Amino acid sequence: MDSRIRILPETLSNQIAAGEVVERAASVLKELVENALDAGATRIQVVLKRQGNDLIQVIDNGSGIVVEDLPMAFERHATSKIATLEDLFALRSLGFRGEALPSIAAVARVEIQTRREGDEHGWSYRVEGGTSGEVEPTACPEGTSLTVKALFFNTPARRKFLKSPATEYGHLLGVFKRFALAYPMVDWSLMHDDHPVYTLRSGDLKSRIVELYGNKIRDHIREIAMDEGGTAASGFVGTTELIRRSRGDQFIFLNNRPIENRIVSHAVIAGLDPLVRPGDYPFYVLKLDMDPHGFDVNVHPSKAEVKFRDESAVHQSVRHAIRAALGTGDVKPAIPEKAKPSAPRRSISTRVVQPPVPQKPMSTDIMDALYKPVTAEKTIPLPVSPDQRQPAVEPQGPADSEPVEVVALWQLHNKYILSQIKSGLAIIDQHAAHERILFERAMRYFRNPPNPSQHLLFPEILELTIDDWNTLKEYATLFKDLGFVLNDFGPRTIRVEAVPSGLRVSSEGKLLKELLDEVREQKKERPDPREAMAASFACKGAIKAGDPLSEVEMNALVNELFRSEFPYSCPHGRPTVIKLSLNELDRRFRRT
Ligand code: ADP
Ligand code: MG
Repeated sequence: MDSRIRILPETLSNQIAAGEVVERAASVLKELVENALDAGATRIQVVLKRQGNDLIQVIDNGSGIVVEDLPMAFERHATSKIATLEDLFALRSLGFRGEALPSIAAVARVEIQTRREGDEHGWSYRVEGGTSGEVEPTACPEGTSLTVKALFFNTPARRKFLKSPATEYGHLLGVFKRFALAYPMVDWSLMHDDHPVYTLRSGDLKSRIVELYGNKIRDHIREIAMDEGGTAASGFVGTTELIRRSRGDQFIFLNNRPIENRIVSHAVIAGLDPLVRPGDYPFYVLKLDMDPHGFDVNVHPSKAEVKFRDESAVHQSVRHAIRAALGTGDVKPAIPEKAKPSAPRRSISTRVVQPPVPQKPMSTDIMDALYKPVTAEKTIPLPVSPDQRQPAVEPQGPADSEPVEVVALWQLHNKYILSQIKSGLAIIDQHAAHERILFERAMRYFRNPPNPSQHLLFPEILELTIDDWNTLKEYATLFKDLGFVLNDFGPRTIRVEAVPSGLRVSSEGKLLKELLDEVREQKKERPDPREAMAASFACKGAIKAGDPLSEVEMNALVNELFRSEFPYSCPHGRPTVIKLSLNELDRRFRRT
């Protein structure tokens, strides 16, 4: 070969371009489906054979192609979608590079059949490995059918890069699901090796999610709806029940284009924090809408990546949207904010199991003096948080209008609290709920220290092990922010002068040691020392299963739980509330 510079023959340059656009069968499917959607199709049928190696066919009922333009569609940089660079930043179509059809036709045998609305018949056209045939009349329905056979037949080197059939099929399914979720208003079907895989009817996003994932997912997804800082977010995010340890069901759409973007996926995780841990994959279908000037899609040939102009604004909007989605719901019990134990009630609906006074190791008088909470009556060991910076969420809708008389809280086996809610019955795990409350309180105190302390009448002297001593030094500031007042008292010995207020503790020395132990454990899983400390505080400070609660305590607990940012799970991700809807009860009693 001589070393003169030359222009590459068209077929070869298309094959090179194909390397970028057509990596595998799934990339072909993606491009064909994008074209069908751009053509305004409301019904799209996908037919695959042997994981797309033998056949990838996409049939749409869209606009079709004008016969004169047919050969043009297979030329590089031939597109009907943009004309100027400015168009790229006002993009509403999925395609714009005009590269897909020529690239695919360079590495496969392609046939197109297309018919415009009102035309007497359609037209067909073939291109095989870059060599084109004639445009011929043909009988076909309105719309376009693209048939791709023998993928990579002329580029065996590329075929070697393909992974196992299962992997390739997984990628194909991934593409299909992504677009089926992005376009729930389109009817979709998928056939593989003559077996129907999906038949999806047009509807809203929730029904599409249910069609793809089954009816059970209904109870575990929360709607996202937030319009902030130029980014409108909608869609659904899964509760902690749907968290997986492997990637798969995370979908981001920007102006209906499936995208991958680390800013956005990070923002979702940040919004879910602290419900997720590193390596957790929550379920979400997140749709973002913004002015096309706010991002650039032309950063990668497969158009899967985008670059946002204002990344931190996008991050913040998404984070807020996810928080709002999981922080609200209809699970809030119908408890009026100011429910007081002395309020007049009808006995039959409000009878509360009155628990015996908890047994305490010291005389009650001393205990009361020691643990006199800051804001509540002295017999209430679980005061509503003395910190009222968190605005109270008012009950909404029918909950508001429920009369005080019908509100009932029951403690079941000193473990669960039962409460009537708008839609039926809520069962609250008292320990998990209190953990959630304490965790969020602690995190607030760390942001805005310190927590009010309860000063001890009789400070406790504690001798610590080396480990405990070192841990205490390491976390000294956080202990202080939580409300502990600790003074050095000789070698490895401290004097506990005060502990955080609002806890029910029997021995502050024991609490402190348990905390030191726990924070060493937590720190293995939570790199942020504040989170590790907050989780330990929640775990060791919370009331336990088996602790009897008074009605006032239950009220305080439930009220504060539903003022939390994430009321529905404890810091370890276990649920705090289970909901039994009236519908479910009716169904079980066969009332319907
Ligand atoms: P792009 O989508 O980037 O414009 P493609 O190579 O994917 O480039 O397609 C080239 C052109 O062919 C499109 O701009 C469009 O006009 C036309 N086209 C392709 N597929 C279809 C289809 N299914 N229905 C109608 N027009 C189509
Ligand atoms: Mg295209």
